[in-house]
Formats: sequence, C-alpha cells, structure tokens
Amino acid sequence: GEKLLEVKNLKTSFFTHLGEVQAVRGISFHIDKGEAIGIVGESGSGKSVTSLSVMKLLQYPGKIVGGEILFKGKDIVNYSNNKMLKIRGNEIAMIFQDPMTSLNPVYTIGNQIMEVIIRHQKLNKKKAREKAIEMLKMVGIPSPEKRIDNYPHEFSGGMRQRAMIAIALSCEPDLLIADEPTTALDVTIQDQILKLMKELKERIDTSIILITHDLGVVADVCSRIVVMYGGLVMEEGSSRDIFFNPQHPYTMGLLKSIPRLDLEEKKRLIPIPGTPPDLLKPPIGCPFADRCPYSMKICKMKLPEFFEVDMGHKASCWLLHPESPKMKLSTGVRK
Ligand code: SF4
Ligand code: MG
Repeated sequence: GEKLLEVKNLKTSFFTHLGEVQAVRGISFHIDKGEAIGIVGESGSGKSVTSLSVMKLLQYPGKIVGGEILFKGKDIVNYSNNKMLKIRGNEIAMIFQDPMTSLNPVYTIGNQIMEVIIRHQKLNKKKAREKAIEMLKMVGIPSPEKRIDNYPHEFSGGMRQRAMIAIALSCEPDLLIADEPTTALDVTIQDQILKLMKELKERIDTSIILITHDLGVVADVCSRIVVMYGGLVMEEGSSRDIFFNPQHPYTMGLLKSIPRLDLEEKKRLIPIPGTPPDLLKPPIGCPFADRCPYSMKICKMKLPEFFEVDMGHKASCWLLHPESPKMKLSTGVRK
C-alpha cells in the first residue's frame, strides 16, 4: 500500500525539574492509506505521547528530540503552529478518551459540528446544518434532526463519543487518531463505537490509529498492531501474528490480561506483575527485563535488536536471537 504516515526513530522527552523523562525513545512504524493499526501498551508505555507527537500537540515541557514524522512524504516535525493548524482537523483528526474535555459545554452539538464543516468545507450555514445532521445520522445518533440542537450534557457518554467522531470526520481527514476512545464507556457501548469505527473506515477510507491499553479492543478493527513498552516498540505484526503467534513476553503478558467475559470476575484478569521502568533513567537493556519471566543475563546489558519472525512480524527480544536457548530448543539445534 501507499504510505500515509511514516514515523522514523521518533524520540520525545519531557524536560522536568527532575531531569529528562525519555517518554518515547526511538520508535518507528508506518500506516498505509486506508489502513487501521493499533498501538497497544500499558499506561506509561509512550503510546499517548506518540500520538500527541504526531499531532504536534505536545505540551510544555514535552519536546520531540529526534527522528522524523513523514506525513504524505513530508517531515512535519519542524512545521510551524500555523502549518499544523491547517493539517489538524483537516488532514489529521483526533478523538480522545473523554469527549467532555473536547466538547464545548456552552455550544450545541450541532454548532460544534457545523463550525468544523464551515471552516473546512466552505459551506453556507444551511448546507452545513444539513451536513451536520447527515454526520450525526452516520455515527448512529437517533433523531438527528432534533438531537442536533442538544447541548453536550444532554447526550449520554456513548452519544458524546459518537458526536466527537462526527466532528472528527466532518473535515474528512486522511488520518484519524483515536486515543482510548472507548475506555470510559461500558462494554456494550464500547463494542458499538468500535463497530462504528470499523464501518466508517470501510465507508470513507480514513486511515485509523487506535491507541489503547486493551489488546481486545484492537483485534477487530486493526489489521496491524504495534506493541509498545517503556517508550519502545516491543513487537509489531498483523493482528493474526500478535494474537496467535506472539513472540515477545510482554505481548504474551498483555494477551493474558485481556478481560474475558466467559470467566468470573476474579479469574478474568491476570495482570503482569511489576511496574514499568523509570524513564528518567531508562534501562540500558530490555525495558521489560525486571518483569520478564524469561529474563537472561544479556537482557539487562543490551537492548535487543528487532528480530524478524516472519514477513511484517518482528519483535525486540533476545529470545529470538539465533543463539538463544529458546531458539535452540525450538529448532532442535544443539551445540
Ligand atoms: Fe524478556 Fe529478555 Fe526478551 Fe526482554 S529481551 S522480553 S527480558 S527475554
Ligand atoms: Mg494514554
């Protein structure tokens, strides 16, 4: 496919009074036109900082300190605020976890959608209102002709997230970045929103980056998954690779921590024990070494390179080194 976004060796740090927090430590990934990918990791893995970096929405004291963000082939890292304003909400749109923080409580839902439509599609007010109703209908808001004049507080959580999606899509973006879009919603609504995103992707050909701590959320929507930990990519592959042939112990841990509806509450989650590394003093070796059940001597000494498991499937783990004990076992090679 044609590359829409290519992130190369991105490094983002926060310059706090304690020192430099290296939140993103050199990550690379890409997204093709019309593709949906998932970026998955626990909080503190660097996934949200990655999306804010791509949108150039980092707040002080955050700063991109290295790498490239190629959007349609052009590096946007050094774009001015003005240039970014034109790209954001026009070519790249974003939706967040809590729509209440992005919706303006004093304007009706309709006015907020129309504002975007008027700004980006240069329609008059009447046409913009028609288009806004159409958008609300598309995201599944019932009786949109009436609902368009509601204020955000008159919408339920799920409807607010739908309205946010309508606003984000009103400018017909090439790329939609959704950061934990369903985390605050209950399971049924969560499923509906994900289904909606999947439908919209197919209908309007927007590329989607879905950012979440929950691997279960990306399974259905995304064709490829990037697993992040400690500000680095641990594993990347097709959804099938990640779910059925995970190679990185962190990915395996995440898979075990997916809530399962078929089990009772207590047995549902097996969280990975331990805490993420302190990115003020990032480990020189594998960031997962302190929590990894397979940790070896080399793991704490040297950051593993990416080992290609299969076409498009790679993982950063010493277990995949041809000389590792695991590889020797699985290939039958003995020395
Ligand atoms: Fe575990 Fe070592 Fe692989 Fe890191 S490199 S995930 S510590 S086995
Ligand atoms: Mg986050």
